[in-house]
Amino acid sequence: MGGVEGNPRQAGALGTASRDIREIDSCEAEGLCERNLQTMPNPKRRHSQKRTSTRRAHDALKSHSLSECPNCHEKKMPHRACAKCGYYKGREVLDVEEAS
Ligand SMILES: [Zn+2]
Repeated sequence: MGGVEGNPRQAGALGTASRDIREIDSCEAEGLCERNLQTMPNPKRRHSQKRTSTRRAHDALKSHSLSECPNCHEKKMPHRACAKCGYYKGREVLDVEEAS
């Protein structure tokens, strides 16, 4: 869009190809440039409200599933060390007292 408009100005600034400028002027007069404009592909139709809401039916965030720590019975993420007591698989793997 902008590039097509910019081309005749560029050619005029360089002082070359005066014939090209005349051709572009005549094509503008006949309304041919509008037809020859190359644009990005665009959707032909607007999506319906149903289609949009059906797609967004799966967009909701789900909460994390939490398991209980066997050591301190605090809720923790499964397969992670407990953030409260630092235990994992029956032994202490994190030094929680030092960190806090
Ligand atoms: Zn724990």
